[in-house]
Amino acid sequence: MQNKICEVCGDVFTPKPQVGKRQRTCGKTECKRELHNRSQRKWMERNPDYYKGRYPYVKEWLKAHPDYQRNYRARIKENSHKNGEFDICRKAWLTCAYGTPQDELTICEDSVLNKLKQVIDIQDKLISRISTNKRNLDQLTALIYKTSYPIDNTASYVP
Ligand SMILES: [Zn+2]
Repeated sequence: MQNKICEVCGDVFTPKPQVGKRQRTCGKTECKRELHNRSQRKWMERNPDYYKGRYPYVKEWLKAHPDYQRNYRARIKENSHKNGEFDICRKAWLTCAYGTPQDELTICEDSVLNKLKQVIDIQDKLISRISTNKRNLDQLTALIYKTSYPIDNTASYVP
């Protein structure tokens, strides 16, 4: 199976044979979650009216199930230590910004380094294009200068 690049973190990964070409992320929980969120957002953009007008129904349902929201909040609180695992990448960025434990940073170091390499590559390409452009502009300016002062042979354009 040919290696692919994770659509979320940019890491190179080998797709699982069972999933094959359909696999779009490296498989890290936070990448799967992010891809899911993106799909969700796209779906909501395509179906903007889907949840409109649902509140009266939800309100009725909550009236019939008065404990639901309280229990829901309790469940979230209970599982908050698990939720920590879901957002390792965000944590790593926060670690960079505010300085907390080192191990959280190393988990995401590879993907951060990958991104950094991509940015440096793009910058290198831009620098080379800018120098080419500068050379071309210099040549054009020299040409214009020669055309404007064709008689004076001693005059020359100095970039
Ligand atoms: Zn990934």
